[in-house]
Amino acid sequence: MKLLNFLRGETFARGIHPPEHKHTAATPIRRLPWADELVVPLAQHIGKPAEAIVRVGQEVVRGQPVAKADGWLSVPHHSPATGVVKAIELRPTARGPWTPSIVIRPHAAATQEDLWGVARDIDAMTPDEILQAVWDAGLVGLGGAAFPTHAKLKVPPQAKVHTLVINGCECEPYLTCDHRTMVEESAALVRGIALSMRATGAVRAIVGIEDNKPDAVAAVKAAIAAAGLENVFAEAVPTKYPQGSEKMLIMSLFGVEIPSGQLPVSLGMVMNNVGTMAAIGKLLPAGQGLTERVVTIAGPGVVRPGDYRVPLGTPISFVLDFAGAPRDATSACQLVLGGPMMGQSVAALDTPVTKGVSGVLVFRREDMAERDDRRTYPCIKCGQCVESCPMGLNPSALGMLAAKREYDEMGAHYHLGECFECGCCTYVCPSNIPLVQQFRVAKQVLRERAASAPAAPAATRS
Ligand code: SF4
Ligand code: SF4
Repeated sequence: MKLLNFLRGETFARGIHPPEHKHTAATPIRRLPWADELVVPLAQHIGKPAEAIVRVGQEVVRGQPVAKADGWLSVPHHSPATGVVKAIELRPTARGPWTPSIVIRPHAAATQEDLWGVARDIDAMTPDEILQAVWDAGLVGLGGAAFPTHAKLKVPPQAKVHTLVINGCECEPYLTCDHRTMVEESAALVRGIALSMRATGAVRAIVGIEDNKPDAVAAVKAAIAAAGLENVFAEAVPTKYPQGSEKMLIMSLFGVEIPSGQLPVSLGMVMNNVGTMAAIGKLLPAGQGLTERVVTIAGPGVVRPGDYRVPLGTPISFVLDFAGAPRDATSACQLVLGGPMMGQSVAALDTPVTKGVSGVLVFRREDMAERDDRRTYPCIKCGQCVESCPMGLNPSALGMLAAKREYDEMGAHYHLGECFECGCCTYVCPSNIPLVQQFRVAKQVLRERAASAPAAPAATRS
């Protein structure tokens, strides 16, 4: 397969160019101190919640496993601090309802060095040992998806992987945590890539980085050269949203389309985020688990924006205090976890930073006013949503069907299932129609209908 598209300056079809607002891109990562308590939800990943293996009152060490995986699509969690288990109880999380969580009170003078774990000889590890080590480290997709990484790296028996694609696009406005990771942790990133190539059997890897991050491209290329890896490449792709999605980046790099309903593995590829790869490169040699992550704290409402190394479980309220965002955030501001295009609004300030939280963005009411005050108008059939949709859908028609609650029609004839909720259509719509929000509702209704549908009768022989 040739790497043609980006060499010609081409990318995927359609998409948008929102203002970047990446004001924190040149600021080094800083470390956040301990909050008074850290909240480790048992469900902070896609799949089954983990099972707690500590009791209330127990002393724990930073990095010590506090919850074990419950099945293949589940991951363990590790204590983010040396301290005492204060409670195991229901707490609010960004993923939805209150969730069983382990609450840890850190010892104020405790170090943020990981004290748990035994160093390994990574050169001697077999593919299965690497997968097991990734699982034991509690790793999930740090780009926001929070899908268990060991499951993503496990190649199905009938498939063969030749290429590892590493997503360094970070196409969402404001977010710069991946950018800083590529600049500051490029050696760990390249080590993680080499380990993941061995785990999947891939013979080459390519890191796709948007061309608004030339220092990241240079840093990763230098780390690849320093490691002497001839089959690993770092390439700049033209900046465009939503290039960080699997389908779009693979199209930008290789000019091939992942068939509808299939995963990159159907084309012999596996894709991961740069933050996840850097975590593998850091944690596996030390035999440690994931206890912290880099989070972008930014937005017009933040006095000291930047990328912070945050102990997992740190409450958003503490993060906001430290970065100088207003304390009365729920009334004065809108908080978004992740990027502004695909992130999630949160109201509860005691929501903790979990493995999938890449950003905490704060928008003041005055920043939102222009958008909030705009009324929704009827569709004027301008076609801008169609011209922006990277999946080639017709958001205008989907929106009209959604308004009439014709959800089955949306799924059956307008390919609603192909929509990955990037928000491009909503962003460009001059009538301010909340298209992506309507599509989320429609998908949820269809999921619930499918779940409650009676099972088809078993086939009988005549
Ligand atoms: S949200 Fe869905 S319909 Fe809208 S542009 Fe993105 S993929 Fe297309
Ligand atoms: S962008 Fe908005 S107004 Fe224009 S066709 Fe799409 S839904 Fe209609």
